[in-house]
Amino acid sequence: MNDCLFCKIIAGEIPSNKVYEDEYCYAFRDINPQAPVHILVVSKVHISCANEINSENSGIIGHIFEVIPVIAAQEGLNDGYRIINNCGEAAGQTVKHLHFHVLGGMSMTDKMV
Ligand code: AMP
Ligand code: ZN
Repeated sequence: MNDCLFCKIIAGEIPSNKVYEDEYCYAFRDINPQAPVHILVVSKVHISCANEINSENSGIIGHIFEVIPVIAAQEGLNDGYRIINNCGEAAGQTVKHLHFHVLGGMSMTDKMV
């Protein structure tokens, strides 16, 4: 998957503002933040979108959802945060490597994203 932007970020071939990394996932600040805190959490293995989650790789997704609260605490998101995944073109997915947006640091009670 050497033409994948997020694979290149994970490999360190493209710079990123890393906030967390372990064996299975990598998290970094979104280049175009939509909230005071806007972090992308990605699996280290290339999974193109949520439609590609299956019994072989779903453990990684569970792990990501264990890590998100750790990142949220690290970022001081004590009042809550939003997790978003865009799956496919109609949802506006622009990077075809599964990623979860973690948004926080402002009130989001009145809108979807
Ligand atoms: P999506 O539209 O759900 O596919 O989200 C892709 C996200 O990747 C967008 O919020 C972009 O701002 C973000 N993005 C694109 N390129 C980079 C980059 N080089 N570093 C960090 N975030 C990026
Ligand atoms: Zn990739």
